[in-house]
Amino acid sequence: MVSRSAEDYRRARHAGIECCIEPAFWSGQDKRHAGAFFDYFEQIIDHETDRAERAANMDHYVTIGLEPKEANYRDMAAEVLDRIPEYLDRDPVVGVGEIGFDQVTDAEEWAFRRQLELAEDRELPVIVHTPHTDKPSGTERIVEIIEEMGVTQERIIIDHNTENTIDISTRTDCWIGFTLYPGKIEAASAIDLLEEYGTDNMIFNSAADWDPSDPLAVPKARDRMIDRGWDREEVRTVVFDNPYEFFNQSPNFDYEA
Ligand SMILES: [Zn+2]
Repeated sequence: MVSRSAEDYRRARHAGIECCIEPAFWSGQDKRHAGAFFDYFEQIIDHETDRAERAANMDHYVTIGLEPKEANYRDMAAEVLDRIPEYLDRDPVVGVGEIGFDQVTDAEEWAFRRQLELAEDRELPVIVHTPHTDKPSGTERIVEIIEEMGVTQERIIIDHNTENTIDISTRTDCWIGFTLYPGKIEAASAIDLLEEYGTDNMIFNSAADWDPSDPLAVPKARDRMIDRGWDREEVRTVVFDNPYEFFNQSPNFDYEA
């Protein structure tokens, strides 16, 4: 949680979070130098993993990838992609991500395909970011590419789903993520969708960025589901068992449930 204080790790731990997976993401301003990515990767791999343990005795893992927005700086992106494999070999790294689409450009598609290949070669889980503008058609395009490339869908999570994308994402064998975040999807609507579509392959996650996101969104959604009368085992499926099963496909994921 590079954009958060040690206190946020403690609050998360008190809310029952023993393990978190931090994806490499867009930092609020486009990076313009490949070196900035390498420093950032080092920071989340080493410093954040150490800080989560020091602050809250929390297991911390990372996914590494070139975020779609920044794929549009083609020269810089090529330099970053060339070195991503060496970061995937590091101990706390459990997957590739987040990758996917922002504006659905050719450069984004090129970076997306290259990173899907990397993940497939190494049999690593992948976090796929769906775009915020024109989301249904961007999600359609993501599904087309995944199907066309024939990559292992069971190792992919299509993230940031809403009521406008769920019918597209559930056509695949990919995992279905809901990022509980103001302006993306709120807990109440995400729970409504689970009541309609069931909990198979469904995963709740949260954001912990610089904007008004909430690192406690998942435990709060858990409480809300219990208050709505959900069976505790079913709640656990969405907030724990499914994400555990998904990331446990990674050889580097050592968290003991
Ligand atoms: Zn994202």
